[in-house]
Amino acid sequence: MRIEIIKCLKDNFSYLIIDEQNNSACVIDPSEASPIIDHVEKFKLNLKFILNTHHHFDHIGGNKELKKKYNLKVIGFEKDKERIPEIDITLKDKEIWKSNKFETKIYHIPGHTSGHICYHFFNQNILFTGDTLFSLGCGRIFEGTYEQMFSSLQLIKSFPENTKIYCGHEYTLKNAEFCIKHDKDNSALIEKIKSIKKKLDNGFPTIPTTIKEELDCNIFLRSKDVGSFSKLRDLKDNF
Ligand code: ZN
Ligand code: FE
Repeated sequence: MRIEIIKCLKDNFSYLIIDEQNNSACVIDPSEASPIIDHVEKFKLNLKFILNTHHHFDHIGGNKELKKKYNLKVIGFEKDKERIPEIDITLKDKEIWKSNKFETKIYHIPGHTSGHICYHFFNQNILFTGDTLFSLGCGRIFEGTYEQMFSSLQLIKSFPENTKIYCGHEYTLKNAEFCIKHDKDNSALIEKIKSIKKKLDNGFPTIPTTIKEELDCNIFLRSKDVGSFSKLRDLKDNF
């Protein structure tokens, strides 16, 4: 299995997960169709599934056009079936979905939206976190409560430390500036910021990150209780 990172719109990431034995692929959160189509044509892929983390336009924008072009199936959370365009396969919390080599378990992680899910490709140790966990940050709370977002992040914290995280946006540098402001003596964070800047200076994405790096550096994951988490989330909204 191989992951291709595709930059979309202003700062979105869509991802292709590719079975290299037969070139079949799934796309996670196609923000828009054309950059995905470019990749699919370039690598002669057989795009079979769209996996959506949530219903926001910058995560589902390519659904309709890609489905029409490739006759693929769209997958999402059962409780969001009215909001995810072109949905074909609905999954429940903690359900495992499998097709050939693609095998993933979904978790309901509300807070950013009420129907947000993440996809854990447990055989590859990969987690697609959408707009719930970012590198050094977390999503804004649009539809849920602080408690829901906090407990969704606690769930993500419980994955193995070497799990690779692929999130929905390139917000890492801005998030880093916020983290260091509130955690200025954190040496792991200082090191991570150096490596982030190096990647960005060379034109590379800062993704993937890992659970371990986020546990060490992400102040939202490091919040001990919902009270301190809520304060940071409010401060970040106005940062
Ligand atoms: Zn979103
Ligand atoms: Fe988004």
